[in-house]
Amino acid sequence: MPIRIAVIGSGPSGFYTTDALIKTDADVEIDIIDRLPTPFGLIRAGVAPDHQSTKRVARAYERTALDEHVHYIGNVEVGRDVSIDQLRDLYDAVVVAIGMPGDPALGIPGDDKVGVVGATKFVGWYNGHPDFADFQPDLDTKAVAVIGNGNVAIDVARVLVKTKTEMTETDLPTKIGDYIQQAPITDVYMFGRRGPVEAKFTNVELREMGHLENASPIIDPDCLPDEVTGEWSDRDRRLRDRNLQTMRGFPDSVSDAKAKRVHFAFYAQPVEILGDDKVTGIRMEKTQVVDGRARGSGEFFEIECALVVPAIGYALQPFEGLPVDDKTGCTANDNGRIAEGFYAVGWAKRGPSGVIGTNKPDGKMAAEQILEDFSEGGKLGHDGLVALLGEKDVKWSDFDDWQTINEEETTNARPGAPREKFLTIKDMLAVVDKA
Ligand code: NAP
Repeated sequence: MPIRIAVIGSGPSGFYTTDALIKTDADVEIDIIDRLPTPFGLIRAGVAPDHQSTKRVARAYERTALDEHVHYIGNVEVGRDVSIDQLRDLYDAVVVAIGMPGDPALGIPGDDKVGVVGATKFVGWYNGHPDFADFQPDLDTKAVAVIGNGNVAIDVARVLVKTKTEMTETDLPTKIGDYIQQAPITDVYMFGRRGPVEAKFTNVELREMGHLENASPIIDPDCLPDEVTGEWSDRDRRLRDRNLQTMRGFPDSVSDAKAKRVHFAFYAQPVEILGDDKVTGIRMEKTQVVDGRARGSGEFFEIECALVVPAIGYALQPFEGLPVDDKTGCTANDNGRIAEGFYAVGWAKRGPSGVIGTNKPDGKMAAEQILEDFSEGGKLGHDGLVALLGEKDVKWSDFDDWQTINEEETTNARPGAPREKFLTIKDMLAVVDKA
């Protein structure tokens, strides 16, 4: 009997696990279960719409999905349509590849005001994720404060200041792009609680900021050290040195040539969100870095803005029955193993770090563990799940359905754009029903 495996989540870590399993000689059958009819997780809804070359990795995932040992089961939410106990009864092995789709709280007074929008929500919104179809941030503001110095912060800043032309050949939904373009935003402040050396931007993303059509990166040259000091590996030192070189090329003052600015504002931590119900500004404290950590200096300043986007990492959104490690915030696991026949991969295993390819070794490790733990299977797998979903009247969708949605989105694209995304599950399934 084949070993029957359920992979929950169809983002990179789910696909790398599936791919590693089918590349072994073992007799395996894999169901990839996702709560959306559209696969690929963060590739579709997290990677910035103007980074289409990064999204091309989905072509390899598509080949994996089309393998005869693999089924895609979309529009099925674990915890709502099927419980984890039911899946563990139906499959020999269950792999949790759900990423970290939540926003951690900023943890300062006022962080629940209207106008504080976590990056997961903000990025999900501009990427047309159906969870945010009813949401629209208030962009009626000249300034925006983005908290954090990682690649997500830089993505948010860039998408807010790029021109319509720059965003044409992207999968930014047209109505969201138009909404961003009509906003009066001129200044995006990207606050880092530590300095330029500690910033987590990768160099390609940083360099891109120097080549925007109508926005300049602004930096105070006094905050740029002559060299990278501190304890770093050789590789990290080289990467940080490259970032410093890039930032040295950024202007230190407002140029008249460009109408918008992204301020790289280092050594500043948020202490309070200002306003009544709605955000009217943010109060920041200047910091120093002591022993690698940000320490408040007691010197404060404020900026006026109606939107604050904390881009400070991600939080797990566990379904019932998924053990969580309170210390790490990840799935409680030992090198990927949660319990017998129960595994975690990707961000759900190790937290929100690394690039897309970082998930590949996780998938390989999970595949090896599964094959160590099982030489053959004995459970019902796909047929059992399909029967259960039928009994519960759950309208699930398969990979053919995704290909129908994909074709329609591609057909509907504005000139130059790769697709025009459907923004609701209802609209996606209507296309499938029509086909
Ligand atoms: P990240 O790289 O970990 O950056 C998080 C930032 O938030 C850091 O600057 C951190 O500062 C700051 N921060 C955390 N808590 C804070 C607080 N309470 N107050 C103020 N600042 C706070 O995370 P990310 O940007 O969410 O990215 C997640 C992963 O996805 C990363 O590995 C990233 O490279 C990857 N990613 C890659 C791309 C790409 O390749 N283009 C695009 C998007 C995401 P400290 O350093 O001081 O903790």
